[in-house]
Amino acid sequence: MPARSAELRALSDEHSAHNYHPLPIVVAEAEGVWITDVEGRRYLDMLAAYSAVNFGHRNPRLTAAAKRQMDRVTLVSRAFDHDNFGPFVTELAELCGKDMVLPMNSGAEGVETALKTARKWGYEVKGVPADQANIITFEGNFHGRTTTIVSFSTDADAKDSYGPYTPGFRTVPYGDVDALKAAMDGSTVGVLIEPIQGEAGVNVPPSGFLRAVRDLCAANGTLMIADEIQSGLGRTGATFACEHEDVVPDVYILGKALGGGIMPVSAVVADADVLGVFRPGQHGSTFGGNPLACAIGREVVAMLKTGEYQERSRTLGAHMHERLARLPGDVAHEVRGRGLWAGVELHGKARPVSERLMDLGVLVKETHETTLRLAPPLTIEREDLDWALDQLEIALSTQGGDPLEPPSRAGRSSRHGAGVL
Ligand SMILES: *Cc1c(COP(=O)(O)O)cnc(C)c1O
Repeated sequence: MPARSAELRALSDEHSAHNYHPLPIVVAEAEGVWITDVEGRRYLDMLAAYSAVNFGHRNPRLTAAAKRQMDRVTLVSRAFDHDNFGPFVTELAELCGKDMVLPMNSGAEGVETALKTARKWGYEVKGVPADQANIITFEGNFHGRTTTIVSFSTDADAKDSYGPYTPGFRTVPYGDVDALKAAMDGSTVGVLIEPIQGEAGVNVPPSGFLRAVRDLCAANGTLMIADEIQSGLGRTGATFACEHEDVVPDVYILGKALGGGIMPVSAVVADADVLGVFRPGQHGSTFGGNPLACAIGREVVAMLKTGEYQERSRTLGAHMHERLARLPGDVAHEVRGRGLWAGVELHGKARPVSERLMDLGVLVKETHETTLRLAPPLTIEREDLDWALDQLEIALSTQGGDPLEPPSRAGRSSRHGAGVL
């Protein structure tokens, strides 16, 4: 590793908790789909910060909105209203086809807010006896890292040693309608579901499953809560992944891309008969709905309203999936996903492939042992996407650990360039 990178990596190793296993790159800057490290090497970003950078790094519309707002007012707390708050909640509610928004910051806070909403709604509207509410979740879920959320995780790494756990959750297999039906009773106040499970490896549920969840929730008088933090806001080729089955959940949880890759912005969005349960003092956040977050969020909503990013994800995603489907079966035995989002299931370990891809100028990240996740910014050009997929083919064809040739620069425009500059 070059000296500057090695020096900075040593600082991280010594003084940061080791709660991540990052690729051995030290980023200095980024623009669009390209990331530059401290040595000046450029890499194509095929992860997009887990979909938080759907619109590309430093998207000029988003940074302009942020800069304008930074010269006006950035934080007042919810003790005072500000001139971007009403417009933000109105515009986001409209994008979702709902009445109300409760803005928070991180995705996990959005999920916590939705869980509190479901319980409060359960007691005050549905009439569940005090402290009897249950919420159903799915095996393989990822909804964040708080103590309550890891209480219903089925991933030992995410959950172990954090007990005692929050009660009130039931977990059933993802895609199993009968198990869901059997788990529901009169005290079920919510079903929390990722319409596509991102962290689990871009798991798409069996066709008809989301529709079945919708119908069971309606029949049981239970809230269907869609965690669209990673799947939403254009990633799958639609504004929401639920749209692929014409399903409208009772509650959306949004995050990641809502902050435009600039800051954490999350939100719970639902109708007034659900979010209307909150009265002053019953929930809140110092930073939730702050002026800077709302200015960025409004721009994100405006960009999504044109449908152009959803369309890019749909068209380029179809192309990406066509190419991934042609990967040789002896290296990749399954490809899942929708739009510009894919989980590629390898026979061998995924980590060495991510490391080889990094050497080839493409950044991806493995999820679990054997899955590679691809999620480029939705602003990616077809030519760049094809180049990244070429590198993936090269990385997979050298799975035995053979030394790699430097990436071919053929067919790539001059403003790009992975490898050493
Ligand atoms: C990333 C993610 C979260 C948690 O978001 P944070 O901002 O990391 O707290 C929750 N749910 C899903 C589906 C996610 O992908």
